Amino acid sequence: MKLIENWFSERYSDNLQLSFRVSDQLLSVKTDYQRIDVFQTYDFGKLLSIDGTVQLTEKDEFVYHEMITRMPYLYADSKPESALVIGGGDGGAAGELLKLGLKRIVNVEIDGQVVEVCRKHFPELASSFSKKNVELIIGDGIKYVETAKEKFHIIIIDSTDPVGPAEGLFDSKFYHNVAKILAPGGVVVTQSGSPFYQPKAIGMAQRGMKPAFEYVKSYTAFIPTYPSGFWSFTMAKNTPIKMRKDSVPAGQYFNMEIAESAFSLPEFVKKLIA
Ligand code: SAM
Repeated sequence: MKLIENWFSERYSDNLQLSFRVSDQLLSVKTDYQRIDVFQTYDFGKLLSIDGTVQLTEKDEFVYHEMITRMPYLYADSKPESALVIGGGDGGAAGELLKLGLKRIVNVEIDGQVVEVCRKHFPELASSFSKKNVELIIGDGIKYVETAKEKFHIIIIDSTDPVGPAEGLFDSKFYHNVAKILAPGGVVVTQSGSPFYQPKAIGMAQRGMKPAFEYVKSYTAFIPTYPSGFWSFTMAKNTPIKMRKDSVPAGQYFNMEIAESAFSLPEFVKKLIA
């Protein structure tokens, strides 16, 4: 990524971009899978970008990580004890799952360099990988689910956008394999992009999940540094998507009201998944 007058810009289209003024570029590396950059921004702390797209910033990562973990936790039929995270090489999702008291977390990240970069630049997130309840596997999540035998109460697809190594994480062949290792009453969640700027992603996630699961529902959250600030996640189960009579402590974004209201979708989003 080039620094132009000390700004990092993520381009959404030929005519639109989000720019962060940065004081430093801390790292730029091309791996076998993607380009990783880390910037020190003025307003959002450190920022991790992969192939020019914002993955996280120190200031607002909590929204994404709380919403991709606490929602499946609360919508599983019984209190979850184990989780599989596919992607998530920053360690943020695994860290949130540890806060929820999960006993076993397997995290399969394809690119070992994402983990190394995050250990160095985002240690408060990546330190989750050193905890005894977390097993980190460097490998392709698509291949992992083809042969895995262990069952999980929560399966989280914390991936990059559906291009390159993450493309197959949105198709129904992948979700059929995921369904085989989901414990009864368990929940699968994927990030499914910005309904406004990536209108195809949420439909792809829904179409990928529907042949493999009885119930599929999308929910949204406000994430300032993702395209348009309006982000979607899609959840799938084989039992009805109903909140457990349990409560999860409020985070910085998540609370029990949001746990219900996040499924209320604007009309244009309903049309994207119709
Ligand atoms: N919060 C982020 C977002 O939505 O922008 C996602 C963060 S996490 C860094 C995404 C990770 O998914 C990347 O590190 C990438 O290497 C990983 N990934 C992509 N395809 C994968 C695959 N097939 N198996 C495992 N990990 C994969």
